[in-house]
Amino acid sequence: MIEMSETVDRAGKVLIGNYARLPIVMSHGQGAEVWDAAGKRYVDLFAGFGGAVLGHCHSDLIKAATTQAGKLWHVGNTFHTDPQIELAERLNRHAFPGKAFFCHSGLEANEAAIKLARLRGQTSSPAKWKVVSLNRSFHGRSLAMIAATGNPAVKAGFEPAVPGFTQIDMNDSAALDKACDDETCAIIAEPIQGEGGIHPLLTTFATELRKICDDRKITLIFDEVWTGCGRTGKMFGYQHLPVTPDILTLGKAIGGGLPVGVMYAKPELASLLVPGKHGCTLGGNPICMAVARTIFDVIDREDLLSFAKVQGEHAIARLRNEPKLRGKIKEVRGRALFIGAELTHEDPGLVERALARGVIVNVTAKTTIRLAPPINISREHLDEGLTMLVDAIASKP
Ligand code: PLP
Repeated sequence: MIEMSETVDRAGKVLIGNYARLPIVMSHGQGAEVWDAAGKRYVDLFAGFGGAVLGHCHSDLIKAATTQAGKLWHVGNTFHTDPQIELAERLNRHAFPGKAFFCHSGLEANEAAIKLARLRGQTSSPAKWKVVSLNRSFHGRSLAMIAATGNPAVKAGFEPAVPGFTQIDMNDSAALDKACDDETCAIIAEPIQGEGGIHPLLTTFATELRKICDDRKITLIFDEVWTGCGRTGKMFGYQHLPVTPDILTLGKAIGGGLPVGVMYAKPELASLLVPGKHGCTLGGNPICMAVARTIFDVIDREDLLSFAKVQGEHAIARLRNEPKLRGKIKEVRGRALFIGAELTHEDPGLVERALARGVIVNVTAKTTIRLAPPINISREHLDEGLTMLVDAIASKP
């Protein structure tokens, strides 16, 4: 423990304090287990905000990374490399026919998507440039993405806001119709809102989004930074809905924990992004691409979409039916292993009490416990983590 506090002190001197870091130094992990520097073991039910979708140190991902690291590290995007193409081919196989742009993060993928929608908007008269997004949404922390994000706390202090971004309530058809005018180029939405507290887009509203976009030549962007790559029991969250977006943005899980972002667009849109319009020096790095490509292969080979669905149904049922949680949980929402359990009352100490018992969870939107374990988590580890979580919730002083 002394060692950890020394490390935490050193961190305080040299790291910017923009994260509310806990005084724990993580040392190593395997699958859904993580150990801290003092040797304490945790069951990881959050996978680093969903990034470690196949858990820690998956042997296939280690092999993909090390094989590629021994072959080619980085070349400029003035050249072709196989891993980029192989990943884009997998996206074509699993999503709709499209073309990929690679970057490092979710926000960059969203920025690229909005830029592309604006390029398309320039071809209309009057030119379309405005963007509609949803309250409670989260799209990243650049100046444009905080303008798109539907959470005032994320915007505060960075005014004036980038112009052209409006938010409406999810599932509010009248507001949607009013918010979209002749100058609207894009609507961006998460199939299931993550930071906002695990709120799924209603099927009817998704259909309305698609229709208004088709009718008014607006680009429909689905931000799948949280919901992509199997987390919801389908490869992409939109596949639970009767609509296909024009652009899909990915981050977090697609790199398995390495920095990968993807803006994936229908070919007719993608063709507008010609040389000089957008770029990312290290985007599409061969090592990251080799890992991302392998994630799709492991999900397919191990049928992890069905597995995540079954594990998620089990977890949701346990949280709904646990007698110790009666009166403490208002609602359990989510799909597969993207789960939100809304508490009846705020519980600021819950994450720490869970950690003390040996389980990593997250709380978002003040009262929603968020679970997003690796999608290959075993039943044994899932149940162990849930038991510790239930105990932590029930122990509220
Ligand atoms: N979009 C969604 C839905 C997110 O949840 C996040 C991050 O949490 C982002 C975008 C931003 O991703 P990144 O932190 O990789 O920039």
